[in-house]
Amino acid sequence: MSALIAPGLSLFGVVQMVSKIKTKCPVCGIVFMARKSHYDRNGGKAYCSRKCYYRDIPRKRYVITCVLCGKIRILTPKQYGKRKGLFCSVACRILFQSGPDHPMWKGGQYIKSKAGYVMQYVKPKFHKRQHRIVMEDAIGRELSEDELVHHLNGKKQDNRIENLQIVSKAQHIKIHDPRKWRERTS
Ligand SMILES: [Zn+2]
Ligand SMILES: [Zn+2]
Ligand SMILES: [Zn+2]
Repeated sequence: MSALIAPGLSLFGVVQMVSKIKTKCPVCGIVFMARKSHYDRNGGKAYCSRKCYYRDIPRKRYVITCVLCGKIRILTPKQYGKRKGLFCSVACRILFQSGPDHPMWKGGQYIKSKAGYVMQYVKPKFHKRQHRIVMEDAIGRELSEDELVHHLNGKKQDNRIENLQIVSKAQHIKIHDPRKWRERTS
């Protein structure tokens, strides 16, 4: 019986059957009596309400470096989607995509973070892999979807024409060790 009395005593001095503990909600700061079981389950925290609980649970976050202004920002998945994983803000995205007529135009290039390619501005809201543009300029026609451009020295950002070669998908797989295929798709 003594185990229940200390934490479970209500304001009216009635012994409750549920063990409780006086605590402060970590979100809104309200002091309240929480169920001891909830408190223990959350690693020494209890929330006053469902609302506070959902506000505090860890959610997925993305850390990005804005390709326009260089700011590092932490984004929620929703923000990340709206900014295409490239920009700190929607304002930066719009500025970046607006093209050379815009006063904040920075030359229209960025490095695609996952793939590591240089992306080159073509027209508003459209950037293309720079190595394909360089090759298309050199051969004077557009490349088909089946034609890949391989970086001879393995450096994905070295887009000098002498470093580029047109290959088929099959040839390209052969060139790159298929086991390392996912790491080096240049
Ligand atoms: Zn609360
Ligand atoms: Zn920015
Ligand atoms: Zn390659």
